[in-house]
Amino acid sequence: MVRQGKAAWLAHDLTHRGVTAWLLSALLVAFYLVLYYTALFDRAARAIGLDSKWTFYGILYSLAIVLGGIYVLRKYRHNRYQVVRTAVVMFVQVILAFSIPEILQFVHQPEYYFSYFWPLKFDYWTPETIFRFPLGYILYSFLGSLLLVPLLGIFFGKRWYCSWVCGCGGLANTAGDPLRHLTSKSSASWKFERISIYTVLAVCLTLTALLFVSWGIRTRDPALEQFVDGFQSVYAFLVVAMLSGVVGAGLYPLGGTRIWCRNFCPMAALLGLVQKFGRFRITVKENMCISCGLCSKYCEMGIDVRSYAQANLSFTRASCVGCGLCAEVCPRGVLRLENIRLRHPQQLALIHISPATTRSRTAAI
Ligand code: SF4
Ligand code: SF4
Repeated sequence: MVRQGKAAWLAHDLTHRGVTAWLLSALLVAFYLVLYYTALFDRAARAIGLDSKWTFYGILYSLAIVLGGIYVLRKYRHNRYQVVRTAVVMFVQVILAFSIPEILQFVHQPEYYFSYFWPLKFDYWTPETIFRFPLGYILYSFLGSLLLVPLLGIFFGKRWYCSWVCGCGGLANTAGDPLRHLTSKSSASWKFERISIYTVLAVCLTLTALLFVSWGIRTRDPALEQFVDGFQSVYAFLVVAMLSGVVGAGLYPLGGTRIWCRNFCPMAALLGLVQKFGRFRITVKENMCISCGLCSKYCEMGIDVRSYAQANLSFTRASCVGCGLCAEVCPRGVLRLENIRLRHPQQLALIHISPATTRSRTAAI
């Protein structure tokens, strides 16, 4: 169906950084600031019979994923990978990330999110949290982070988590789908991503180590305890509230849907490292690419997929979340997401092709 008139203008303006996109972004940023730093949503939640603003937010978030998921299911109904992936993401959000934590609270058990693991949920590995939870939860948390996450990462790449389970990826791939092309493909954004994501991971690892050290010698060193408490507060403010919420979701209409996942998420950083040595790759059919650029345009992680296709190079990139949209939009069926046991070094590009390299290659062709 071709949209006409004002509806078409509005859709284009919203998805191409027009005035309405800027207004929507300002509204989303304001929403997150009010949510985090005022009691307004607490009062609103209680007025409608909910226990806190986080339940209210959980309902809104789940609704966005469910409604966006229905839109995506319809849009990609011919593609089994997209249909199953979207259905799983909707299920995980509604059941694991919303209903079960709510039910646990209702029956006076500690609230726990079974779809989130350290280091994304860094507070699940703080001494205070660990000793607050029953043994079964602690085992689940440690086995999940140390065994389940890396093992599945080796076999299936980071896509099993970033595109099938995580709520951040879930929102990006459902409600955020019309904005996915806004992710920057510039050389500067690629360089920034490589520095920022590993910096956040290093800070997260340091904080976790310090929390345990400070807990171990707590009674003897109050100065260290004070420093670590301050460090934790700064991390919670900067990384958890600002980067994942205000920037990550607030700037969807301007910078695309994976700002957080691409640049700041410590879980994505760890899984990316695992992915580079695991089985996941995107295979390229040789001499089929017509250089239309749709794969690069719709890559939500800003990867220049076309450059690999033009060079007949199958590839594994640490940042690829395995959303499968590059394969979906390719008119020639050039790309395929695979988990392979053996790699042929000449066929598989483990190196990054930077946007600068791409430009010179393209020019030379
Ligand atoms: S390379 Fe393809 S599968 Fe990977 S993030 Fe980009 S669009 Fe998704
Ligand atoms: S969408 Fe397909 S044909 Fe177009 S540039 Fe990418 S790989 Fe080549």
